[in-house]
Amino acid sequence: RAKADITSAVCFYDQVMDETVRARRHLASDLREALENRELDIHYQVQTSISTGQITGYEALLRWRHPRLGNISPAEFIPLAEESGLILKLGAWVLTEACLRAASWEPPYKVAINLSPVQFAHSDLPKLVVEALLASGLSPSQLELELTETTIFADRDRSLHMLRQIRALGVSIALDDFGTGYSSLDTLRSFPFDKIKLDRSFMSEVESSPQAKAIIRAVLALGKSLSIPVLAEGIETAGQLELLRLEGCDEAQGFLLGRPAPLQQLLDEGHIVAKPGGNLSGGEPKAF
Ligand code: C2E
Ligand code: MG
Ligand code: MG
Ligand code: MG
Repeated sequence: RAKADITSAVCFYDQVMDETVRARRHLASDLREALENRELDIHYQVQTSISTGQITGYEALLRWRHPRLGNISPAEFIPLAEESGLILKLGAWVLTEACLRAASWEPPYKVAINLSPVQFAHSDLPKLVVEALLASGLSPSQLELELTETTIFADRDRSLHMLRQIRALGVSIALDDFGTGYSSLDTLRSFPFDKIKLDRSFMSEVESSPQAKAIIRAVLALGKSLSIPVLAEGIETAGQLELLRLEGCDEAQGFLLGRPAPLQQLLDEGHIVAKPGGNLSGGEPKAF
């Protein structure tokens, strides 16, 4: 009996695994066509200076509206794109598209773009960045690239070399999701970061957990002593914002200040103003 139970459990497990693998494969192949089918879009989320309340920039966040399954989270499809290598094409599209849009914003806000470890390992990133800047006319000082420690740890020497080249262009580099992953202090010492983004997992606990608050304080002190501004991610309540203000945090991003939204919506609502004759939100998607 027990043996039969185990056998059927294993069978069931195999079946579920098969279905999962098949569903993933299906999704991966749908994703390959998503760019041409115009199912991909970029939403933008505001980043704000805590002391002045002024907008400092917008983070570009990739969105996929699947024709049958509806909206699929980047947390789900980015890993698929990384496995298949498709991230190189998607990443290049996001970079070009976001730079092109941001070049027409008035005043000239920064645009922050997420990079995948795969882009670091398998593309000539400095060349891509130069091309995106030239094609869009965006000032390098308006571009910020976000990367996580995982990105860097894949190949430290290569990463450092690329980051130096990119930074020499006048583009800034932010360390995303700080506090998760390895968070080696050595990373902060050896790499030229212009901003630390404190992971949002700390924010949900900041008002209730002394530990979370202590870590936030420590990261802010670290930022101060290294002269690297810190942005707090995932600010959802006025209480969290006030606490971070009191602790001396530089910038904030989160639902309280603005949810990620399509560019057209930000333009319609007057959050972003486009220069006359600038490249608005329409435009043909460039084929890659
Ligand atoms: P991330 O770069 O850390 O982006 C911040 C995520 O937090 C976004 O999730 C954003 O919508 C979400 N968020 C912002 N404020 C709040 C808040 O107050 N509360 C909560 N609960 N969440 C908030 P999203 O858009 O789902 O993106 C998830 C991740 O997918 C990103 O994390 C980034 O790692 C990746 N990603 C998104 N777009 C791209 C892209 O173009 N390229 C690459 N390589 N990765 C991307
Ligand atoms: Mg990010
Ligand atoms: Mg983050
Ligand atoms: Mg993240």
